[in-house]
Amino acid sequence: MAVYNTNKFFAFPNHIETLRNKAITPPVHIRIKPINACNHSCWFCAYRAEDLDLGEDMKLTDKLPQETMTDLVTDIIELGVKAVTFSGGGEPLLYKNLDKHIERLATSGIKIGILTNGSFLRGELAKNLAKYCTWIRVSTDAWSNESLRESRKVKIGEYDNIINNMADFKTLGGTCSLGVSFIVGKTNYNHINEYCLRAKEIGVDHVKVAPCIVSNDPIENEEYHKCIRTDALNEILVAQKLNDENFSVVNHYHSLGDKFQKSYSICPFRLYLMVVGADSKVYTCQDKAYTQSGEIGNLKNEGLKALLKSKSYNEEFYSFDPRSKCKHHCVANQKNLELWNFLNIEREHLQFV
Ligand code: SF4
Repeated sequence: MAVYNTNKFFAFPNHIETLRNKAITPPVHIRIKPINACNHSCWFCAYRAEDLDLGEDMKLTDKLPQETMTDLVTDIIELGVKAVTFSGGGEPLLYKNLDKHIERLATSGIKIGILTNGSFLRGELAKNLAKYCTWIRVSTDAWSNESLRESRKVKIGEYDNIINNMADFKTLGGTCSLGVSFIVGKTNYNHINEYCLRAKEIGVDHVKVAPCIVSNDPIENEEYHKCIRTDALNEILVAQKLNDENFSVVNHYHSLGDKFQKSYSICPFRLYLMVVGADSKVYTCQDKAYTQSGEIGNLKNEGLKALLKSKSYNEEFYSFDPRSKCKHHCVANQKNLELWNFLNIEREHLQFV
């Protein structure tokens, strides 16, 4: 069964009706970036790279105040949000009391995912996360201690630390799925299979292989990947021979060009997902986190429940035009295209399937 799929929104048909009525309903999924500090310094990190619009206003010292997080968790539970992902900005496992907030959410029936570099996935924290999370995904681009030091400015031994943490995590048992996101660039494209072999050996459930983003300009991204694309795709094909019922290599190393141009005049996927940053601001999505054009609220001024109920939020939602506001990478482009296509079907003709 597939973990990744752009059609999950079909499971929430009421949201489509809400879009048709130009109304607002709580999102299905919220991403929270609890802290911007990180113990790694990845050269490709979208929130730190100077050549990218992504994350231009991010302050490394920001973290969500504990009381803001507590109130946010209360609102998420009361609003009936279905899933929360904790991610960066920084390294989410550095956030104090993260497992306590997760316990509150999970015991209220909310599914939890975490994107992490894996450094601190150990001890009591790992045990609690194994108990309460649906999935954890470790982001990497390295295949050895030396390559991790080179790309992330970390100490020698950190790669082994992360591999050991993941191996130990799998021995905790439970149902939490452990994945890896392997980010491909010019230095590692010929090590994809080597990494996948190691990941399978230690019990990782899947490796998602995806391209690094180096520019706001789709042509520059394509140019960067052009000389490695064939070899990278061959590596992925070889790695996919490892696929069995317990392990899979998922190919997300697609062309990036189609994620930059927008043809829809609202962003329907915003009704399904929103992002809260460590600066307490609410953003349209992860691609616009820590940018002025993506800011839609501030939890310092009003809670999430109040924001979603406000008339100004409704007006902003239905006047936000991605064709002019999002001339950059958009992770939800495919979902928006499908939703937009569906929303534009003449209702009187829907029955003629
Ligand atoms: S169109 Fe894409 S980049 Fe723009 S707000 Fe929507 S999800 Fe974000």
